[in-house]
Amino acid sequence: MGSFGKLVNIYSEIENISSHKKIVDLLSSFFKELEPKQVRVASYLALGTIGPKFEDIDLGIGDKLIIKAISSAYGISREKVEEEFSIHGDLGDVASKFNERQRSSVDMEDVFAQMVKIRDVSGEGSQGEKISLLSGILEKSTPEESKYIIRIALGKLRLGFGEKFLIEALAVAFTDKRDNAGKIEDTYNICTDIGQLARSLAEHGISSMGRFSIKLGRPVQMMLAKRVDTIEELDQKFPGKMAAEEKYDGERVQIHVNGNDIVAFSRRLENISSQFPDIISAVSKSIKSDKAVLDGEIVAYDKGKIQPFQKLMQRRRKHNVEEYIEKIPVAVFFFDIIYLNGKSLLKKSYPERRKILDDNIRESDSVKLSRRTVSSDFSRIRDFFEKSIEKGLEGIIVKSVEKKSVYQPGKRGWLWVKWKKEYAEGMRETFDLVIVGTYFGKGKRKGSFGALLCAVLNEDKDRYETFTKVGTGFSDDDFDEINDLLEKYFIDNAPGNVNISKMMEPDRYVEPAIVIEVLGSRITTSPGHTAGKDNSKKGFALRFPRFLRIRYDKGPVDATTVEEIGELK
Ligand code: ATP
Repeated sequence: MGSFGKLVNIYSEIENISSHKKIVDLLSSFFKELEPKQVRVASYLALGTIGPKFEDIDLGIGDKLIIKAISSAYGISREKVEEEFSIHGDLGDVASKFNERQRSSVDMEDVFAQMVKIRDVSGEGSQGEKISLLSGILEKSTPEESKYIIRIALGKLRLGFGEKFLIEALAVAFTDKRDNAGKIEDTYNICTDIGQLARSLAEHGISSMGRFSIKLGRPVQMMLAKRVDTIEELDQKFPGKMAAEEKYDGERVQIHVNGNDIVAFSRRLENISSQFPDIISAVSKSIKSDKAVLDGEIVAYDKGKIQPFQKLMQRRRKHNVEEYIEKIPVAVFFFDIIYLNGKSLLKKSYPERRKILDDNIRESDSVKLSRRTVSSDFSRIRDFFEKSIEKGLEGIIVKSVEKKSVYQPGKRGWLWVKWKKEYAEGMRETFDLVIVGTYFGKGKRKGSFGALLCAVLNEDKDRYETFTKVGTGFSDDDFDEINDLLEKYFIDNAPGNVNISKMMEPDRYVEPAIVIEVLGSRITTSPGHTAGKDNSKKGFALRFPRFLRIRYDKGPVDATTVEEIGELK
């Protein structure tokens, strides 16, 4: 019960199996044996982390500190540890090699609590304290345990599965029905703390899922938009009245206001407040209520004019934030509100929510309400689109104004539909693809990548399937930036959740983490790619792909899906 050793056995088994069902079964039988409060801890640890994404989950230790901790725990000189590291390249393996004395297994909750402590120490002398805390756990653990402790501490546990998988395992463990995963996932879209959900399931079963609602400080998954192929389809999808809003090309943001405590979350549910202190302070002046959750888009905004997306990307920084507040001014355009003064507004219709939003925001230089038009005359919607394009925007989002137009967290449904300039010009479509491999470059690109093997998400199978090889469109800066990013994600073998055919085998494998936007000319089928491929069908492939930009705002689970490609084909 509760030994870290048992979880470690599962980690190492999972590394060697790829069967989806087997992994889920392993995890669920492990969960079943635990107390509810241990289930919470085990859920985070199974994902290789120590808390939900919206909290600070970075332990703040790098290779150097780990080397010191290993050296102090096992009485080995630092030089020796470094030497071994240069041979193995994995500090987890190094720790388990030097950890010779067999001990009994360390307690899972102990490991977790120590890791939280490591994260929390700060200020002067914190490095020494972090080392001694880590070396303390290493001393108590078995060789296999120390290997995984290091990997978790470095944020490098790569088992190739995410929340979705875990949810399935929780459904099997605590409701006996895999089919309940859908219901748990719906709740997860509202309560994005998987540990809390897991504990509640273990304690009270599936019926407890209905009790979760919005809580300030815990972000809700954001609602997304579908697309159509022709503007006329909008008219068919929204018979009668519809609202068209300008579509701003920036970074999605969800802002939680709790009195003076104002926090901004990204689409990936990370706390991005420290990047946008100017927005936080502007919102504090514009909001008329004490508690609220607002949904909007941050754009670069100078002298009343919206600036291109690339400008905004310069604000993605941890250092020199103050300097860049001046250099790249920004504004937020709010388009929704989902919580006000203690009440969730998720079930209210879009017109009701929009009215509440308008009533609660005072516009200023950097806090705006999305511009829109509401009409049953389709020619007015077309006009609004044309005008938006003339203003340099990327398009419109048409929203249902019916009674049923609730806010659907984490869903891409027909209540919001986007229509972009590119579609109108019959231009080629863009895709958000996950890098899963690289091929070595030649000539000028020697020593770097020549092309990237890119994949789409197969939601049914919860895995990444290859769709295209991207070798053009990169500027020199793009190259440097991608090379830097890749460094962290190279792995020796394809992980269990990536499907690559022999034909496409890359020179190096990459853990699914980086999303890039790619322009393509045509979708065809190919025997080499695995996107949507099954025994009877070839996979989808993208012809003439061209790199456009890195999508820092997207994680692999936000990539284009096989289903979306099927709809476009
Ligand atoms: P794209 O890649 O086309 O920008 P996406 O994949 O990021 O889209 P979509 O669901 O296709 O996301 O489009 C919705 C996104 O558009 C939202 O996530 C939000 O960031 C942005 N957006 C801009 N203006 C609005 C608006 N007025 N209403 C809703 N979303 C908006």
